[in-house]
Amino acid sequence: RKRVKMDIVESPYVAAISELDTDTVSYFIKMKLSVWCRQPRGQWELGSMQSTSGEEVYVLLSNGKVLNLATSEIVPANPNILDGVDNLIKLAYLNEPSVLHNLRFRYSQEMIYSKAGPILIALNPFKDLQIYGNNYVFTYRQQLVDSPHVYGMIDAAYNQMMSDEVNQSIVISGESGSGKTETAKIAIQYLASLGSGSSGTTNDVLQTNCILETFGNAKTSVNDNSTRFGKFMEIHFSATGKICGAKIQTYLLEKSRVVQVANGERSYHVLYQLCAGSSSSLKDRLSLRAAHEYKYLNQSDCITIGGIDDAINFHQLMEAFDAVRICKEDQELIFKVLAAILWLGNISFKVTDSENHIEVVGDEAVTSAALLMGCSSQDLMAALSTHKVQSDKDTVSKSLTLLQAIETRDAIAKFIYSSLFEWLVQQLNKSLEVNEKHTEKSISILDFYGFQSFQKNNFEQFCINYANERLQQHFNRHLFKLEQEDCESDGIDCTALDFGDNQECLDLFEKKPLNLLSLLDDESNFAEASDLTFVNRLNLLGTNHCFKGERGRAFSVRHYAGEVLYDTNGFLVKNRDKLSSNAIQLLSSCNCELLKLFSKVINQSEEHGNSTFHVGALYSQKRGVGTKFKDQLFKLMHQLESTTPHFIRCIKPNIKNLPGIYDKELVLQQLRCCRVLEAVKISKVGFPTRVNHQEFSRRYKFLLSETDIPRDPLSVSVAVLQKFNIPSEMYQVGYTKLYLRAGQIGALEDKRKQF
Ligand code: ATP
Repeated sequence: RKRVKMDIVESPYVAAISELDTDTVSYFIKMKLSVWCRQPRGQWELGSMQSTSGEEVYVLLSNGKVLNLATSEIVPANPNILDGVDNLIKLAYLNEPSVLHNLRFRYSQEMIYSKAGPILIALNPFKDLQIYGNNYVFTYRQQLVDSPHVYGMIDAAYNQMMSDEVNQSIVISGESGSGKTETAKIAIQYLASLGSGSSGTTNDVLQTNCILETFGNAKTSVNDNSTRFGKFMEIHFSATGKICGAKIQTYLLEKSRVVQVANGERSYHVLYQLCAGSSSSLKDRLSLRAAHEYKYLNQSDCITIGGIDDAINFHQLMEAFDAVRICKEDQELIFKVLAAILWLGNISFKVTDSENHIEVVGDEAVTSAALLMGCSSQDLMAALSTHKVQSDKDTVSKSLTLLQAIETRDAIAKFIYSSLFEWLVQQLNKSLEVNEKHTEKSISILDFYGFQSFQKNNFEQFCINYANERLQQHFNRHLFKLEQEDCESDGIDCTALDFGDNQECLDLFEKKPLNLLSLLDDESNFAEASDLTFVNRLNLLGTNHCFKGERGRAFSVRHYAGEVLYDTNGFLVKNRDKLSSNAIQLLSSCNCELLKLFSKVINQSEEHGNSTFHVGALYSQKRGVGTKFKDQLFKLMHQLESTTPHFIRCIKPNIKNLPGIYDKELVLQQLRCCRVLEAVKISKVGFPTRVNHQEFSRRYKFLLSETDIPRDPLSVSVAVLQKFNIPSEMYQVGYTKLYLRAGQIGALEDKRKQF
């Protein structure tokens, strides 16, 4: 592991050989130093330059071929000795092929973690590596190793929390299947190993995670255990540094999955587990059948997941419920509500006339669903087959068409599931309740959907990508903007860096008076509006370079990670997220305590004063899903802003989910998306470590001999640096703080330990 100890090689960020001075290029030719050459299809090959003439170079590739290329197509490669450095800032030449090569080199040796300046890069190994568990926790806790690892990052955050008394946050991002959830678990496992202040709390945190996964994760085409919501978990610590509670916030649960599952995917794990694992008496009480007998579960031709036993997992779920003190009565209620959802999905309709009006087929599905919901079959059938229309004075019932009936049934199922999820999170929070008296500080872990760009992008991608813009701004602020502002106000000469400000894109979503979210809400409040009228109103947005109108119902947004084309089909319905008044009435009349509670919540959130009835649906002048999500995000950002952030970028090395395959194109795309190269660049040229003079002097003063200690902290800082021969280009002295290049504080800490 020699590489780990290597000194930082200082050199400029170099994009292409043409940007190097002619002497350096001649030196490369003379010494036959390696370069990367861009091939016609975009991939990079190693070679060495033979000669150069103006804008062109002759390069000998490793396969013996000689190519004539433009200098702009050649970038310098790093000497072999730098192969596999653990922090990309140690690369002499920072360019895409060098970064890709370095990560591949490490990946091939099962070193999945690397640093990119302050960021931890985690490549998904798609196999179990022997780098976790108690022994590893111990070595990182004792700081016996310093190779990049989630444990190392969490340990640093924990130590910082304890010493600086500032809350910390771990922001984990990456695309689906890149390893965010596993990384969050590894982080929690490390924190759990630090022990609990009060007995049981640590186990509660782990069990809570298990429950949330069962209700909020599902098999998708890319990940067998995909998290279908955003998760923010605050873990609280006592003054002595022991876990003393936790708090969870969730975002944007993918509700549509309850009623609609693509081929080869599954709905939420808990629904299959309930069918596979419940005892025969529970099955009787819930009139439960096997999973394949339910339409919501059998529509995708995928009932089981290879290597996963749903029945065993159901028992684990019940144990987790017991552990976090969800009582047996509540467990029974939860299962009842889940069974009701499954039976609702089996309710079918019979078309009765040429206009597609329907009536409900009065079969076992209706009776079972009604029984579980605690209402009469008649009431359930009426809610699913009719809607109320306001005429002059009276309200009259009209029959629904087949499509309307299916939508009503599915809307009820989605509403019940998402309400159950929210209620469950509330119960878990009660169980993990943070004792305000004991809590001192916290470490929060954010595991949020990564940026998404598919062939077809809908309302879900619209919200997720908006959130990613906000998170990206947070990242930019910490890595680039704050760094620069801080330097300037402290009289430090800091090179202006292009940090790719994404404010204009955020303005598109948020800037008053008119923005994408406000226009969507305006339209959602018009009963006559449609996705098309919404798109037409987008021309009111004014000039914003991030927006592009498209043909038909589409529009494009230029996000920080690339342009995304959104199809507005379904935007309005999803933003309104309304239940018909009939459905609300039905739920509030149900005997089932949970359903009654859920309907109360919806009733409270409706502002009846402004509401109007139209075709049975209640539209009111209120904020839609998009705007509510914006409010949630603002709160989240506010919380994050008050913490010291640590960033983990998870990378998926191949789309086959197989170990050992490193798809360079795929990795590059993700590195670009999270702007890893820029972050390395700023760390390399910048001064990422900042310590105020008082603190620095308090910590290192004792390294000076008593007689040499100056009076003021600033002079102490300078004296310490001089005594240990820290080269002057490695630091700058500001009015209030000392600015150090990456790696320097570690060197001083080593001196401190040796003392
Ligand atoms: P999504 O956004 O869909 O929830 P994700 O980024 O959270 O995806 P994970 O569910 O954490 O991805 O990881 C996908 C799979 O990759 C895991 O089920 C596991 O098989 C594998 N994996 C991820 N990280 C690791 C790791 N550190 N060690 C071993 N396997 C891992």
